[in-house]
Amino acid sequence: MQWKSQLHNLKAYQPGKTMEDVKEQFNLEKVVKLASNENPFGCSSNVQSFISSEALSHAIYPDGYAKQLRMKVAGQLAVEPQQLIFGNGSDEVIQMISRALLDRTKSTVMAAPTFPQYKHNAIVEGAEVREIPLDGKGRHQLSEMLDSIDETTAVVWLCSPNNPTGEYIRKDELLHFLDDVPSHVLVVLDEAYYEYVTAEDYYDSIELLKTYPQLVVTRTFSKAYGLAGFRVGYGVGSIDVISKLEPIREPFNNNSLGQGAASAAIDDQAFIDECREQNRKGLQQFYEFCESSGLKYMKSQANFILIDFGISGDEVFQYLMSKGYIVRSGQALGYPESVRITVGSPEQNEELISLMKEFL
Ligand code: PMP
Repeated sequence: MQWKSQLHNLKAYQPGKTMEDVKEQFNLEKVVKLASNENPFGCSSNVQSFISSEALSHAIYPDGYAKQLRMKVAGQLAVEPQQLIFGNGSDEVIQMISRALLDRTKSTVMAAPTFPQYKHNAIVEGAEVREIPLDGKGRHQLSEMLDSIDETTAVVWLCSPNNPTGEYIRKDELLHFLDDVPSHVLVVLDEAYYEYVTAEDYYDSIELLKTYPQLVVTRTFSKAYGLAGFRVGYGVGSIDVISKLEPIREPFNNNSLGQGAASAAIDDQAFIDECREQNRKGLQQFYEFCESSGLKYMKSQANFILIDFGISGDEVFQYLMSKGYIVRSGQALGYPESVRITVGSPEQNEELISLMKEFL
């Protein structure tokens, strides 16, 4: 029963401070949250119209199979509808994969630091966790990850762009990895920030599914689509792999409002293009600040940036919070001297940069 005692030591997810908490604690009128990589511009106006014109009966269970949304996403990605699985956020897709494939006899490989839910779910299932440090530039070391795979390994987690560094896995490295990974291993490529990517050499991961049947890509409506509160994410892979996950899915895991909101949002790709562009400009604001202040940072393809202040990240976090800006201290993210900042609107970025300048 060793794994159970490990499970009992596992901490529940700790949400950061809410805007209300911070308002009250520091007696502030206005608080801005740039801590959890949500979209500062909200969501498409299509979603607002869907909600106000919404004629759904809430007494009826949702379509657990999310048919309408499924058809739209399948059309957008040019995949078969059965290649998709929807979750209550991509968090739930990660959980379903872990439940389906991990147990006490299995091991799982991931980078470190990366998105913590891979490790969390692996511990819940009792699997052995093998963490391979990122390199100094915040990138996955794929050959080291490959070396740590053995016959017990069931799942490898790749995160591109990686949370919390924002770095992405390069195509040639990914292809080498996928060519060499043993066939008993499922490779999960978490692309929660895919819509923000501007790197010209970024690959079409959905296209890769045709060549690599053991690959599953996960994406979400929580980030660029601005629907974090609705909880909609999905996985896409071979029909064979996805059909093994479907029985694990809780029958009505995607609620009607979330499905409708995601369907409405997907029709407005102009909104996504605009958010990507605003985010690119926002990152530029932070790069310029870091360069003029002599701070180290990682180039990001996501909607956040990890900035190294060379002192305790908690101290920077506390200072900014007292001024009404909630960011994420790097302490719990594996970068104790950094803070992770979600790119905000141009005005929010400007104001936050002024506060950081004052702090320095
Ligand atoms: N993957 C990564 C890399 C993330 O950063 C997040 C959210 N922080 C998720 C998955 C989960 O997102 P959601 O459950 O909202 O889809």
